Amino acid sequence: MEERIDHMKYLPDMEQIDSDIMDRVISAMNDYDPSLYTESDVRRALEHDEKTVDDFKALLSPSALPLLEEIAEAARVETKKHFGNSVNMFTPLYISNYCENYCIYCGFNCHNKIHRAKLNAEEIEHEMQAIAKTGLQEILLLTGESKKMSDVKYIGEACKIARKYFKVVGLEVYPMNSDEYRYVHECGADYVTVFQETYNSDKYETLHLAGHKRIFPYRVNTQERALMGGMRGVGFAALLGLSDFRKDAFATGMHAYLIQRKYPHAEIAFSCPRLRPIINNDKINPKDVHEPQLLQVICAYRLFMPFASITISTRECQRFRDNVVDIAATKISAGVDVGIGGHDGESEKKGDEQFEISDGRNVDEVYKALTDKGLQPVMSDYIYV
Ligand code: SF4
Repeated sequence: MEERIDHMKYLPDMEQIDSDIMDRVISAMNDYDPSLYTESDVRRALEHDEKTVDDFKALLSPSALPLLEEIAEAARVETKKHFGNSVNMFTPLYISNYCENYCIYCGFNCHNKIHRAKLNAEEIEHEMQAIAKTGLQEILLLTGESKKMSDVKYIGEACKIARKYFKVVGLEVYPMNSDEYRYVHECGADYVTVFQETYNSDKYETLHLAGHKRIFPYRVNTQERALMGGMRGVGFAALLGLSDFRKDAFATGMHAYLIQRKYPHAEIAFSCPRLRPIINNDKINPKDVHEPQLLQVICAYRLFMPFASITISTRECQRFRDNVVDIAATKISAGVDVGIGGHDGESEKKGDEQFEISDGRNVDEVYKALTDKGLQPVMSDYIYV
């Protein structure tokens, strides 16, 4: 049997920063027992103008589920207070699906036999031109996690091209050291999203069997290294359904909250992914995280962190996405293709998909769905002078 490396020990090329945030998040999560909260705790939480950490715990507990309608209404009020009726639109672009990690729930994992591909600079530019033509002004660049096949320079070059066509450029690639973040930021990246997947390190170990991603603390400290490297924003997420989703959602919120307190200028964002079936394995599913539970988590994020951006991805269906942007989410993807290439609708796709998407609407269709609901689609709220 393949020998597994110690998931709590940094590898030599990994930067170690001086931070107590991981320990504080883990110890708060370990102390959290969702079953201890009652309906009156939830009602008390709803009455507070500013939600405390304990309120957040109550809002994520099973006792909050029967009050979901009231919670959603409170979240809607909070969202309108800070974001009006605007909803940001963007699209992800997968530029490479090579991956050296073995995450057992993901279609890109190094043992899954799929078509691997990587776009060259010319192909990236071609894809971006096609995306820019749809009117989008924000792009999220994604890769599988292979520093060998998509090194920092390759990602930097992709950011430089993206900068020519888009006002906002996000990255969802392998975690980097702060000097590497500084470099890709100088190339044009504005924000970094990293999914922690689960904050339960024992569970994490059983799901991430090989590769750099196996090192738990290096991943948890990614957002901080990104901010140290000059990034304007950082995104957080647990992949709901991998472990106890209530505790994972709590840890995700706590992580974001502590980072916000330490770096008040940071733009904080949440993603709310649930497990999806993957290529060669359609048995993977979100287990006990059904739509009401997912909505509960999203509303709890909104009420605890009123200014945070919340993204709703195409893992969810059209109906759910259209409803949740009217309640708590502030960012929605459109025209999504999770394979490699093919955005122009003409060239052949080069590589396979990461997971199955549920909402395949193009930019115009999502735009129209938003305006039909009286919402204002926003392509970018940054003005460059
Ligand atoms: S989740 Fe990310 S790191 Fe893990 S196998 Fe998939 S692409 Fe690679």
